[in-house]
Amino acid sequence: MDLSRQIATHLESLRAAGIDFIPRGDPMVIPSAPLRVAANPAPKAPIDNAESRRTALAVLAKEIAPCNRCPELFATRTQTVFGVGPIDPEICFVGEAPGADEDRKGEPFIGRAGQLLDKIIAGALKMKRSDVYICNTIKCRPPANRVPSPTERSNCRDYFEEQIALVRPKFIVCLGATAAQNVLGSTLSIGRLRGLVHRYEEIPVVCTYHPSAILREEPDTVLRAACWEDMKLLLGLMGRPVS
Ligand code: URA
Repeated sequence: MDLSRQIATHLESLRAAGIDFIPRGDPMVIPSAPLRVAANPAPKAPIDNAESRRTALAVLAKEIAPCNRCPELFATRTQTVFGVGPIDPEICFVGEAPGADEDRKGEPFIGRAGQLLDKIIAGALKMKRSDVYICNTIKCRPPANRVPSPTERSNCRDYFEEQIALVRPKFIVCLGATAAQNVLGSTLSIGRLRGLVHRYEEIPVVCTYHPSAILREEPDTVLRAACWEDMKLLLGLMGRPVS
């Protein structure tokens, strides 16, 4: 195959994987295996009206609260942690699963990682926490913060799909590998997923490092700098000035 045909084939495979934008100047990350995007496409929310969607979201949170699909998580959690923020937000941040603080309080990203997320929202995006929607792909805390199992991930999948269909964010930011892999149906590392624009149900998705990973690297700043670049990529997509 000649070079131009190879390039065309490669671009077609990226497009098929939901990648339709490669930022200029950023390191180009090429997936080694095709991504599976939204293996089970979310059912379209049947309700259009914002007020009805807000109500449906509250109903969904109540329905999820007694969930016992994952016996270990059901036995060890204090409560399910659904999500916070406005509907129709510009951005929805998606994490992995609640930690100890979140499990206690019932709100995502309120511990140390959440405090760093607040700083990212304020510092890089010039927005407030209350401007964005924040949730996790998994609604219960796994014991000792272990990585959720594939069964747990798939048990929680339709809750996430329904939630996003009701919230309708313009952009999604996945925080860390587990969230990014869950949302995109990928097995690639976060290092390979970041720096590109993906799609979940037509919504542009940017992936970056988890705030906890950024906190762990201190005093190093490699992940912090990469996260800053990812937020600049997001700002560019949003048509906002990048300082
Ligand atoms: N880490 C996450 O991924 N989510 C939270 O809500 C808190 C910490």
